[in-house]
Amino acid sequence: MTKKAARLYAQEVTEADLRAINKYALVPLKAEDVFTFKLVLCDNEVDRDYERFSEKALDGLRKLFLGKTGIKDHRWSADNQVARIYATEVVKDEKTATKAGETYAQLVAYCYMVKTAGNADLIAEIKGGIKKEVSVGCSMRRCTCSICGKGYGMCGHQKGQNYPKDGADKKTCTAILDDPVDAYEFSFVAVPAQRKAGASKNSAGAPQDAPETPASDEATTNTTDAEKTAELAARARLAVIFAKTNN
Ligand SMILES: [Zn+2]
Repeated sequence: MTKKAARLYAQEVTEADLRAINKYALVPLKAEDVFTFKLVLCDNEVDRDYERFSEKALDGLRKLFLGKTGIKDHRWSADNQVARIYATEVVKDEKTATKAGETYAQLVAYCYMVKTAGNADLIAEIKGGIKKEVSVGCSMRRCTCSICGKGYGMCGHQKGQNYPKDGADKKTCTAILDDPVDAYEFSFVAVPAQRKAGASKNSAGAPQDAPETPASDEATTNTTDAEKTAELAARARLAVIFAKTNN
């Protein structure tokens, strides 16, 4: 299992959002009935584990995450389903290249919550920037070595190592996650206080891992993110479960 970082942002509800949301709602919802947020699930940048999603994988996950629900506290039950992904898109940044030389791309999920007495605390916590972590799971069929193209683990190349080791055109081995099979519901979980720093430090393009050093709220919320939306200083972790690592 590999853990990835992602982030969460506040969002205004538009008419287009409402139309998308109401495809999932049993009774038509109005703007004042819902709270929405944007979740950056993952991207194609090489992360600190020397792994990355292929662009094709992001597109596959885009379809698989649509309609998936968010649950509170890892306890699955009908009344614990508090959020739903009503739209997903892969957002490319043509100006930014990944370490692997591809155009930087993020998988973004748009989620809604129905405002209820039971959800009020969670919505207030998200709005207030109380640090929340969202863990997301998906299942990938393939994990490929960036050096030789074989299944990672089958070839002897090691993630993070350079090949040829002393060569002029050394390349760093990364594991490329590909061919998503399924995506699962996400869940809100509390984040320890000292990990807050990671939540709001990065803008698009940078690895979104939390540094281990503690930082004050003031310092971390003073983000220069290009987004107009308020940074909610929440993180998501993408737990990639390899259903099957073959060839
Ligand atoms: Zn290899």
